[in-house]
Amino acid sequence: MELENKIKMIKEQDPNSYKIFKSIFEVSSALGTMRFPRSFHEKAWKYFGIRESGKLVESQNETLNRLKNQRVINIYNRWTGEGSLFNSLRADRPGMKSEERDKELSGVYDYISDKASGCDFCQAEKYTPEDVFGRIRGKHCITGSNIAKYDAWSSIIFYKRHNPLEFSLSELSDYLETAGNWFEQVFRQEPHYTHPFFVWNCLDKAGASQVHGHAQILMSKNRAYAKFEALKRAARMYQDKTGKNYFQSIHLAHEAAGLTIEGDEIGIMASLTPLKEKELVIYSYNSPFDDNMIKKTIFWALRTYIDQLGVTSFNLSISCPSLNKDQEFPFVIKVVDRGNIFKSTADMGGMELYGSTVIADDPYRVLNALKNNKII
Ligand SMILES: [Zn+2]
Repeated sequence: MELENKIKMIKEQDPNSYKIFKSIFEVSSALGTMRFPRSFHEKAWKYFGIRESGKLVESQNETLNRLKNQRVINIYNRWTGEGSLFNSLRADRPGMKSEERDKELSGVYDYISDKASGCDFCQAEKYTPEDVFGRIRGKHCITGSNIAKYDAWSSIIFYKRHNPLEFSLSELSDYLETAGNWFEQVFRQEPHYTHPFFVWNCLDKAGASQVHGHAQILMSKNRAYAKFEALKRAARMYQDKTGKNYFQSIHLAHEAAGLTIEGDEIGIMASLTPLKEKELVIYSYNSPFDDNMIKKTIFWALRTYIDQLGVTSFNLSISCPSLNKDQEFPFVIKVVDRGNIFKSTADMGGMELYGSTVIADDPYRVLNALKNNKII
């Protein structure tokens, strides 16, 4: 498995980076195996045999051998307590072919357009409430209050386009700038609401209650929301114990594992401890609500997920340092795939909620798709 080999290579080829890698991550791997009754050979082959265009392209023996030799890599971040299990059985499967991806995407587009009739968000000014200070209008979006609030300051950016998967760089930039304007407005009105949070739950699987393109915008009082506070605490602990900057070190660790992409003053990583499939993490000290380079980076990441990797349901979150000019922490931007909207099974189970996350996707596949998609 590429991930395991790459991590082994760091140790041999780059002892300094390996030291930093080891200062954050613990990695172990083990072989899980099993025995098959003869009566189950055929079925197991059909369930797990590698297929191309629907046809099995490996022999029964090859499939059974793969099943009997499942290598699992366990990666644990000793500061944040995040942990993931990568199983080679799934990671070794070929990616989605372009025709399969296009077929799935066209099914999703049909589903989205079916939901356009009677869509309240298509007429947001008529059928959604507004904040006490009114609405903030962008060129391609408008804000409104969340009718069932997550928190005291909890609003929504309604995109003008119904289809959330169709957006240009100027549209996405406008959504982000409008979010930035809303955060400033709330901060002016109530200065103890200091920490902006932006989250786009795209389509049902990602937690959206409406198909229409929209993002949640929130401001939390005096501190950020829990997950970002936990990350800040971990980063401070790391700094105290090692004298090193956590965000620089984690970027270096991913770089040594070949899981980063070069970006000016932006750290872009396919996560070693993803929350779920294809998690991308971006660190930036410049604001994604006004810095053009970050906006472009987010656009490129989302378009790659949708157009190249066939992702249709995803979460994009932006956790922010305090608006009280807090330079200690970067903006932390995350994107994660939430799976096919036509599959009735949830992508997360008890392992993800209460154990470690179980990951099927190869992080190098995500990284290569990003590297090859030169749209900006
Ligand atoms: Zn709509």
